[in-house]
Amino acid sequence: MRNILVAGNWKMHGSESMISSLLNGVIDGLDASNPAELAVFPPFPFLPLVKSKASGTGIAWGGQTLNPYPQGAHTGEVSADMLREFGCRYVLVGHSERRGLYGESNRDVAERYAAAQAGGLIPVLCVGETIAQREAGDTETVVAGQLDAVLDLAGVASFTQAVVAYEPVWAIGTGHTATPEQAQAVHAFIRDKIAALDGTIAGQLRILYGGSVKGSNAADLFARDDIDGGLVGGASLTAEDFLAIYRCVTTRD
Ligand code: PEP
Repeated sequence: MRNILVAGNWKMHGSESMISSLLNGVIDGLDASNPAELAVFPPFPFLPLVKSKASGTGIAWGGQTLNPYPQGAHTGEVSADMLREFGCRYVLVGHSERRGLYGESNRDVAERYAAAQAGGLIPVLCVGETIAQREAGDTETVVAGQLDAVLDLAGVASFTQAVVAYEPVWAIGTGHTATPEQAQAVHAFIRDKIAALDGTIAGQLRILYGGSVKGSNAADLFARDDIDGGLVGGASLTAEDFLAIYRCVTTRD
């Protein structure tokens, strides 16, 4: 069975002291009987700090984006190899803030996804629709297009080494969480789409939900068949709130 992943996207937040105490608090709250995997996504400068504190705790970490090229004249960018050097297991690709604020197209995201895997990282592929797209009835078309770009470039076999995060843009940072029914419907759509190509890979694929996940709604979300954890923004910035989500995870059948 797929194990639940609870991942904290710290975005462009934090300082050395804040991240140090945040991680101390999360580490203090770890419970060996909890089956969840935890991961955190700090801003790049704090990766060495996270590596030194989280190594050996079972908490994984990753980058928030990467450049598709391995090295070269790309001022301001970071490669998969650099992330690996700092112990990253994961990297986010295609977060809606990257797509929306920095113009990353479906093709750009697919290239980052492929580069992550080529560099030994597990991409967490973020997909999701805007409120206008949902209201126009285009949710599945939008999500299918985001997946197709990756399938076209990297193939279905690549999903054995990937995580998908369904993050409706209208739920990110807004406090308006998708209902468990709304989220489950899109998660099932994603799994069915992969299953049409390979049922085994689809059955093993972890699909996280992201968008205003909190301790008060996580249990209902994680109870759904196709929701395999959460990608958490705001509530990952305090140990207490992040641990409240982690504590919602129970052993699955
Ligand atoms: C996110 O940015 O990935 C996210 C889900 O943020 P929040 O939990 O704050 O909605």
